[in-house]
Amino acid sequence: MKLLEERILKDGVIKPGNVLKVDSFLNHQIDVPFIAKLGEEFKRLYADTPVTKILTIESSGIGIASVAAMYFNVPVVFAKKASGSNMDKDVYFTRIYSYTHNKVNEVVVSKRFISPEDKVLIIDDFLANGCALEGLVEIVRQAGGTVAGIGIAIEKGFQGGGDKLRASGIRVESLAIIEKMDSQSKTIEFR
Ligand code: 5GP
Repeated sequence: MKLLEERILKDGVIKPGNVLKVDSFLNHQIDVPFIAKLGEEFKRLYADTPVTKILTIESSGIGIASVAAMYFNVPVVFAKKASGSNMDKDVYFTRIYSYTHNKVNEVVVSKRFISPEDKVLIIDDFLANGCALEGLVEIVRQAGGTVAGIGIAIEKGFQGGGDKLRASGIRVESLAIIEKMDSQSKTIEFR
């Protein structure tokens, strides 16, 4: 998606360790009219695919999943990082390694919100090694639901997670795929 590629080139900041910061429009401050266009694009791509729920993970996936949900007219469910106290006991549970924070998160989704009839579109802001997405796919499978597809704003193609998921037979649509980026020369190449 040209619009997103241009915005990444304009406002993205490449950090050492292959991390791209887009916190001026997606990850901290959110440009809502802009990300609404990303949501609309997911709907265009998945126009012919039945979707009953959108699933994402807290916290940075919630914004983009929510605007996408406006176009799909379905609820958004977000996997919560388990904290114990006020969470349902009846949950789907998995562990997800967080690349940006270098730690393992235990995440849960209440069994009330995904069922075997659900056709789930998984949406997230970033796809890197694919751990977050694999965890969300695992949650849908535990529920007996169907993964309708995956929608990603920014895929870092060189980290391989997207291609691994595609090879497993899941449809993955990323609006911008970064093939190469370099923090020294401040350059980004898209696939
Ligand atoms: P994965 O599990 O695919 O390695 O990483 C996905 C998650 O890590 C995303 O949900 C996102 O929060 C975070 N992430 C991975 N790479 C980046 C990055 O370059 N920039 C930002 N802002 N987040 C990232």
